[in-house]
Amino acid sequence: MERKTLTQKTSFRLSEFDIIADYFKDLTGQDGVALGIGDDAAIINLPLHSDIQLAVASDTLVEEVHFPSDASAYQIAQRTLCVNLSDMAAMGATPRWFMLALTLPHKKANEQWLKEFSAGLSEIAVDYNCALIGGDTTAGPLTITITMLGEVPLTEGLVRSGAITGDRVYVTGFLGDGAAGLLAAKKTNTFKNMNKNVSERLLLKFYKPLPQINIGLKIRGLASACIDISDGLVADLGHICKSSGVTASVDSRRLPIHPDLASNFQDQCLDWALFGGDDYQLCFTVPAENYQMVDDWISRGELDATWIGSIIPCSDNTSAVLVDGVKSPERARGFDHFVQ
Ligand code: ADP
Ligand code: MG
Repeated sequence: MERKTLTQKTSFRLSEFDIIADYFKDLTGQDGVALGIGDDAAIINLPLHSDIQLAVASDTLVEEVHFPSDASAYQIAQRTLCVNLSDMAAMGATPRWFMLALTLPHKKANEQWLKEFSAGLSEIAVDYNCALIGGDTTAGPLTITITMLGEVPLTEGLVRSGAITGDRVYVTGFLGDGAAGLLAAKKTNTFKNMNKNVSERLLLKFYKPLPQINIGLKIRGLASACIDISDGLVADLGHICKSSGVTASVDSRRLPIHPDLASNFQDQCLDWALFGGDDYQLCFTVPAENYQMVDDWISRGELDATWIGSIIPCSDNTSAVLVDGVKSPERARGFDHFVQ
């Protein structure tokens, strides 16, 4: 479908993606840029003869938008670094360095809060072997931006645009935990009387969504496309489809849902797995010549991933995600900060 022009859109509210596409995507030249706006990270070339490229990505977390205001400084720090690392996982990049821009309300600029925040940050940075190299500190509503830099061997980064008909679609880990974890973090009524083990596991999934760096590295060179699931499986697989110009067909019976979720939230868990955000698992496509290797890894327990569907011929040139054969355009959009 042809994109609407800005003038045609004046009666609409601009979506996040419209804003990026209309005002930023083609704003500047792209000297030295191997992969620009539109993927999980940009890839930039280093001086001649280098056999690596840099993957660069930023993600911002805002109080009350991305985490409730009663979240601890430790939890906020861990979540911010984990979600930023997840974009490196999606690129098959090895995370190396990060910058931290911290906007802090006066009431939180105290030793206790900052000690907890830096402890949370340092634990994840040590676990993933990446170094804090700079940033910015200002006063204002609590907002944290991390810019992450990682390395990929020349031209080997995983991108969204490589899926073709016949590829299989896989996801890592379990789906739906992020959406349930958000409700647990918000302490909604459902979670008040919940078994403690269940709610604590979900809280941990929300505040410490472990980035799938090792899987990104393992499938590099073997997967045809990859994305991390931050806005929901259907929305994010939709980004692969749009970038690749293909359609994906997902079998909902194959979706990996944790037994705790399946037994406690029978009515909601499928919806969360398909459309909920915050899972930070990877969704990737695998061409026919690599099915066997991936399936062997999975059956030997060397790769925590599940085959959930396939890339099928794209009817009328419109890429889409079908769930059990049905297209769900409205819900496929995922979370948008400007259109809800
Ligand atoms: P992700 O969910 O992987 O973090 P986003 O959906 O936030 O990715 O962004 C989509 C793409 O648009 C990314 O390539 C990102 O770098 C780019 N992008 C987002 N906001 C801006 C902006 N204000 N200016 C330029 N590029 C942007
Ligand atoms: Mg991403």
